[in-house]
Amino acid sequence: MTATIEIGTAKALPGTIQDGKIIVEKLAGGGEIAIPVTIINGQKDGPCFWINGGIHGDEPEGILTCSLLRKAVDPKDLSGSIVLVPVINVPAMEAAERGNPLDTFSYDMNRIYPGRENGYLSERIANIHMEWMVKFADMEISIHSGGSHSYLAEAMFAATDSKTQELARAMGEDWRVCLYSNVTSKSPMAVMAEIGKPALTVELGGRSSTAPGAFLNVGKTLLKACINILTHYKMIKGLPHYPSIRYKGFQQALLAPKSGIFLPNSEIKFLTMMNKNDHIASIIDYYGSELCKLSAPEDGMIFGLRALPNVTIGEWCCFFAIIEGEW
Ligand SMILES: [Zn+2]
Repeated sequence: MTATIEIGTAKALPGTIQDGKIIVEKLAGGGEIAIPVTIINGQKDGPCFWINGGIHGDEPEGILTCSLLRKAVDPKDLSGSIVLVPVINVPAMEAAERGNPLDTFSYDMNRIYPGRENGYLSERIANIHMEWMVKFADMEISIHSGGSHSYLAEAMFAATDSKTQELARAMGEDWRVCLYSNVTSKSPMAVMAEIGKPALTVELGGRSSTAPGAFLNVGKTLLKACINILTHYKMIKGLPHYPSIRYKGFQQALLAPKSGIFLPNSEIKFLTMMNKNDHIASIIDYYGSELCKLSAPEDGMIFGLRALPNVTIGEWCCFFAIIEGEW
């Protein structure tokens, strides 16, 4: 028997889609802090696939993916349920900043899970979100991107157990890079992993991929992955596809050694193997002099690059995957 699903103010009977919100608190002016949620409740039994977006407020790709997915799935054809949380960190999204400007003590919400009931504002938001998620979700993906500073190509972070790697493979043919988690605690993915449920942190898009068409293409690629997960787990009908090769390794973020203007090597390509010491980018000063070079730290590939050329020493420049082998 399928059951009615109730999350926050959303209540979805089997075979229906319902919107609602998880109410967190009120601000001094009476404005409400709430987390939007959509339940797509299938007509038949099956697992609950939970999708999170916007834990970082300068990464709207999760909102776009959720908006495309809700149009693509008919709950009458769905076995199980899909829960869409397009934005966890609403105040950060409205400020278009990574974290909530109202809370500088627990600014990066992807580093504070499971939050605290009586903690800082973002910890309270995380805590309420976490409680609903672990109650319903059988598997979860969190959608991220390069945000306001960078572009990230198709890559994900995941635990190494077989259930999680099955979910990673179910992302489909476009997703060939699955790295060891760089946030082994304190993220929604880590919370799920701790209770033995598969979860992924998925990266795609960012600042240089928002021109007309480009942003929608990012959403369509993420939609394709979500649909493939649904077909892999037999939640909808269809033939799943899988990557021909899946690389494993770990991220090394290359930080700017100098302040200046970031000039990537125009020859380099994302998600393509390169050799240790290959030239990635230069940083020049306002007089045009080259201040430093960035080079590949090991054999591996670039999965993200700074998109905003203005750079200050210590800022993210390149997201490099040191490749250890294949899954
Ligand atoms: Zn992020």
